[in-house]
Amino acid sequence: MQKVPFITLEQAQKIIADVPTPFHIYDEKGIRENARRLYKAFGWNKGFKEYFAVKATPNPYLMQILKEEGCGMDCSSYTELVLSEACGITGHDVMFSSNVTPVQDMQKAAAMGAYINLDDYTHVEFLERVAGIPETVCCRYNPGGMFSLGNDIMDNPGEAKYGMTEVQMVSAFKKLMAKGAKQFGIHAFLASNTTYNEYYPTLAGILFELAVRLHETTGAKIAFVNLSGGVGVDYAPYQPKSDIEAIGEGVRKKFEEILVPAGMGDVAIFTELGRYMLAPYGHLVATVLHEKHIQKDYIGLDACAANLMRPAMYGAYHHITVLGKEDEPCDRIYDVTGGLCENNDKFAVDRPLPKMEIGDVVAIHDTGAHGFSMGYNYNGKLRSAEVLLKEDGSHQLIRRAETPADYFATFDCTPYWDKLKNG
Ligand SMILES: *Cc1c(COP(=O)(O)O)cnc(C)c1O
Repeated sequence: MQKVPFITLEQAQKIIADVPTPFHIYDEKGIRENARRLYKAFGWNKGFKEYFAVKATPNPYLMQILKEEGCGMDCSSYTELVLSEACGITGHDVMFSSNVTPVQDMQKAAAMGAYINLDDYTHVEFLERVAGIPETVCCRYNPGGMFSLGNDIMDNPGEAKYGMTEVQMVSAFKKLMAKGAKQFGIHAFLASNTTYNEYYPTLAGILFELAVRLHETTGAKIAFVNLSGGVGVDYAPYQPKSDIEAIGEGVRKKFEEILVPAGMGDVAIFTELGRYMLAPYGHLVATVLHEKHIQKDYIGLDACAANLMRPAMYGAYHHITVLGKEDEPCDRIYDVTGGLCENNDKFAVDRPLPKMEIGDVVAIHDTGAHGFSMGYNYNGKLRSAEVLLKEDGSHQLIRRAETPADYFATFDCTPYWDKLKNG
């Protein structure tokens, strides 16, 4: 499938006159339509709720849009909890799925009335000690071994640090009930960024059967099953798109097969999607600063891996469109790079693209999740701005770019530093 950016060169130029590149831009229309499709695909389940994984794109304007579409927030840290609270999202609209949890974080989640998803058996006593046991508690499951779909190995839960074994789940439930918990949730995350439509249905099957066993052995009331994140997107043109209708229908079949006959047809389905909710609705927009021709042909952008880490970190593919050259033949082969003093700072290696020139504007696709949020300050590079392309076609700055003063803000104001600042 051809990948088409959601902005044209003309639109980009208008925005650049206001906000210089590089910046991440998000497509409000695409975000809302996608969220509505998700809710429709799971509309058969009365309690269905998506808890957006805040870590993917922690911007309050985007969180607000998702809130308006019915989403809660999945937080993993104190700061993300505070961010959700600032957006007016609290109570059971917040899922707290953390690991190696600090006391302060656990207390904040409890004080906000969030659903707490315990990563380990020992966290039952930890939670009781630092915050008390709430009425509803979720426990994260790790089945161990290899997780495969058909002949394909998806991931290796046996090597994953998350969750507890089934034996520990049973003990945790019993202990929690003895300490006053009345209802339970079950959570697992077994494969990341998968476009196999069978992933959620398979995971649902595993968790529904576990829910029935846990109910039978402990008598616990299971209120929800949390399928977590992991539904992937088509980063590359040759990849399939996730079919959310087929995924919702696949989960419904497992629900009818396993939970309904067990008299558990009132269980709510929760998701904690990050990537699927926002990745396709973000672009990193950058300008070509330099080109050089040595052993290979290089195009250097004003963005770098500090603005989008996935290619450098995972060798991830991100499609690149040269705006205004959408219809030109891709008859050149370039490495598209940033300016870090790191040779892995390449957005693309050996990528067929149209002939490029200094001043060209590129859209790097699918940066709406795990893009800006994974940014860092290596080489004194600063985090970029974030811009919202609104439904009416206008744009709004939803986070300004960092300045050197932001970079210096965490130095102590020692006399030495004052001297430096004052020249
Ligand atoms: C990262 C994460 C998610 C979101 O994952 P995506 O791949 O963005 O869907 C959801 N839940 C938990 C616990 C996570 O760690």
